[in-house]
Amino acid sequence: MQADIRAGRLAPAAAAEALLARLPDLASTNRTVLNATGVVLHTNLGRAPLSAAAVAAVVAAAGYVDVEFDLESGARARRGRGALAALAEEVPDAGEVLVVNNGAAALLLATTHFAAGRELIVSRGELVEIGDGFRLPDLIESTGTRIREVGTTNRTSVEDYAGAIGPDTGAILKVHPSNFVISGFSRGAGVEALAGLGVPVIADIGSGLLRPDPLLAGEPDVRTSLRAGASVVTCSGDKLFGGPQAGLLFGSAPALTALRRHPMARALRVDKLTLAAVEATLRGPRPPAWRFLTTPAEELRQRCERIADALRPLPVEVVASAGAVGGGSAPDVDLAGFAVALDQALAPLLRAQNPAVVGRIVHGRCLLDPRCIEPADDHRLIAAVLAAAGSAAR
Ligand SMILES: *Cc1c(COP(=O)(O)O)cnc(C)c1O
Repeated sequence: MQADIRAGRLAPAAAAEALLARLPDLASTNRTVLNATGVVLHTNLGRAPLSAAAVAAVVAAAGYVDVEFDLESGARARRGRGALAALAEEVPDAGEVLVVNNGAAALLLATTHFAAGRELIVSRGELVEIGDGFRLPDLIESTGTRIREVGTTNRTSVEDYAGAIGPDTGAILKVHPSNFVISGFSRGAGVEALAGLGVPVIADIGSGLLRPDPLLAGEPDVRTSLRAGASVVTCSGDKLFGGPQAGLLFGSAPALTALRRHPMARALRVDKLTLAAVEATLRGPRPPAWRFLTTPAEELRQRCERIADALRPLPVEVVASAGAVGGGSAPDVDLAGFAVALDQALAPLLRAQNPAVVGRIVHGRCLLDPRCIEPADDHRLIAAVLAAAGSAAR
């Protein structure tokens, strides 16, 4: 720009305006991505996209807001009470609820409260790695809890748990192995049987399904786990719950009150933006993740045909392609769908567009699955592919 001014191409008085015009739309370096992977809860792309209601609530909460203040009395109020009330309404079986930073934080808090300095009984089939090298056993041991492993990788019985209970037992942990499936000669003990052993049961269900859903029959849910007798149920806010990154805790009033008052809770608490988004995710229409999970295959096929028509004469083909839940949830569920298949060489050029387009490379082709793209954004996908193809031709 300095060179432009020196060369007389730009009037000095116009420099400020020209500079502003060159700034990116956002003051952050995050690039918007059209998720054409077909993976609904893509951890590397930020897991669940927020609903329009949640986005509006976040924007409204950005300034001063009564997050911890009672406007009627002018006194301090319970922090995030709107979000907590919405969660409690959704899960009447919970005596109390709590929101923390993420699923790992929820587990950290529950483990610390029940078992720090003592033993936590866990099945060998449930000592899982949740991703990016993070392993639940390491997280648990970081709290000063000793893990008492029981059973084997494929089989653990109630008797295995019962035999391990002793004076040092703090709790039993039941983890939903959410990102893999053990099939064949396998057996586990359910929360109901474990709750009968007279020791608190922490159920880490992972994905945040609040009640049973026929689409995801294998996924545990909060209500069922509480009814089965879990003392505390923990899960993530940005998986099947469909909201912001958060850790949700549900349980009896005494247990959850103790968790809320634990000194560590202050270090794990969430900000006003998260609380606003959690509440609006529940009170608004079903979040995008659920729309994407339940889009009929035929609708995806028709969108693919329209996208392909708009791209021709580029070499494109509409192919059957299964989507996935992702985010370490329901690994055995294939979502029937379709994708537009393009030359694999376009993939890096698509990622260079704005918004960036991220597809999936399968058998030497770049597949673009419209499942996780709002239909109103299909024209942006088309424009990005045409621009990428144009830059390839140059
Ligand atoms: C995803 C997951 C976690 C971690 O939750 P984050 O919100 O990513 O911290 C813990 N346990 C289980 C079973 C999970 O599926």
